[in-house]
Amino acid sequence: MAYQKNEIITVQITDMGANGEGIGKTDDGYTLFVKDTVTGDLAEVKIIKAKKQYGYGRLMKLLQASPKRSEPFCENARACGGCQLQALSYEEQLLWKQQKVKNNLIRIGGFDDPEVLPVIGMEEPIRYRNKAQFPIGQDKEGRPVAGFYAGRTHSIIPCLDCQLGHEGNEKILTILLDWMKEYQIRPYDETTGKGLIRHCLIRRGYSTGEWMVCLVINGEKLPKAQKLVDRLKEIEGMTSITCCPNTRRDNVIMGDSIDLLWGTPWITDTIGTIKYQISPLSFYQVNPQQTEKLYSKALEYAQLEGNETVWDLYCGIGTISLFLAQKARKVYGVEIVPQAIEDAKVNAELNGMEHAEFFVGKAEEVLPRLYETEKVYADVIVVDPPRKGCDESLLDTMVQMAPKRIVYVSCDSATLARDLKILCSRGYQLEHVQPVDQFPHTVHVETVCLLSRKAPV
Ligand code: SAH
Repeated sequence: MAYQKNEIITVQITDMGANGEGIGKTDDGYTLFVKDTVTGDLAEVKIIKAKKQYGYGRLMKLLQASPKRSEPFCENARACGGCQLQALSYEEQLLWKQQKVKNNLIRIGGFDDPEVLPVIGMEEPIRYRNKAQFPIGQDKEGRPVAGFYAGRTHSIIPCLDCQLGHEGNEKILTILLDWMKEYQIRPYDETTGKGLIRHCLIRRGYSTGEWMVCLVINGEKLPKAQKLVDRLKEIEGMTSITCCPNTRRDNVIMGDSIDLLWGTPWITDTIGTIKYQISPLSFYQVNPQQTEKLYSKALEYAQLEGNETVWDLYCGIGTISLFLAQKARKVYGVEIVPQAIEDAKVNAELNGMEHAEFFVGKAEEVLPRLYETEKVYADVIVVDPPRKGCDESLLDTMVQMAPKRIVYVSCDSATLARDLKILCSRGYQLEHVQPVDQFPHTVHVETVCLLSRKAPV
């Protein structure tokens, strides 16, 4: 039967897609994707887009709520694009993520029946993020607002206290918005490219309580900066206040340089017993409680006894590198962001780890070059690439270097599966797949895998 746009129908939701949307079939076999529903719901749905074989629907009424549901804890859950799984109970979220990794390994990786370990979850999966990037805009009356982008749009819904972040964010944002009103500092307007304040990046050291505030601005200088600094520095733990000029008109939040307004241009934090310095432009895992579990797994999988040479590719500020350096003879890190490598070098020093050495550049350029010119060696290689995964030329060099073990840390199980397929067709064997929930209530999954080199036949 053909369905029409705006038609209202009843659907049983039987599955959930990669973006967390419910998937259901009508009695006559028509497939509908319905945001805000979960497996097990019986829903009244309005069709908003109808294709021949499938369509998209909007949830109008829950006729029967799935037992897998839990009450969303945030009033903005539906409007915001951030927490796609909030309507699903946390236990079910973890099962869903385990299945997501498994499906990708089968579909994209070509593995038969891969064992994916149960996801390591959080005890209290709320207020876990140590970083927030609030877009700044204005409301209809022209007052400055901070909040989040409404799902898949760039209109800002005001919200100063996202439940995934720290309660302290609200105070910082309130000071910022009050200062903007008082001194008539204009928020940035994406459509015209005018206005000054674009984003407010806030980071907090989980174990140190240190705060970092970095304002991304559409210009070179922040007027009345001292007035803002005077108020922000009163906050307990305030350590770093900076601004970051970004006059580009694209979607990338940060600019390329940092101007110090007050304090130090970084904050510090610890994971396990290792101390880290973190600058605004450096990557740092957003869920510190889970990060320790993730890195401990990576260290366990590396199986170091003290004599090994280890390469940590995509090393950021040397977080994993220094974790490994606790047990290895020599660790080399490679990372593309120069500021992160500056942090990494300082971090090695801070922790008295002279046997960690770092290189700036693309992993897929640095490692092949060093392998060719100096025949660099590895017992273990760790990779932790961004979502797009590893470049094939890097995988090539890794295979040639023939380390005994490869530890692959991934934030995207689709590209992970693609890369594992390559490694496993070239002499490696998949030993363990361990997802760790770094991002509760979202569809994102972090996974750490161990591969070992097969004995030559
Ligand atoms: N292992 C670190 C960082 C992981 S995030 C940690 O856990 O903190 C991925 C890192 O890869 C980021 O720091 C990013 O800047 C870096 N990166 C992105 N593309 C890269 C490339 N082609 N070569 C090397 N590093 C890259």
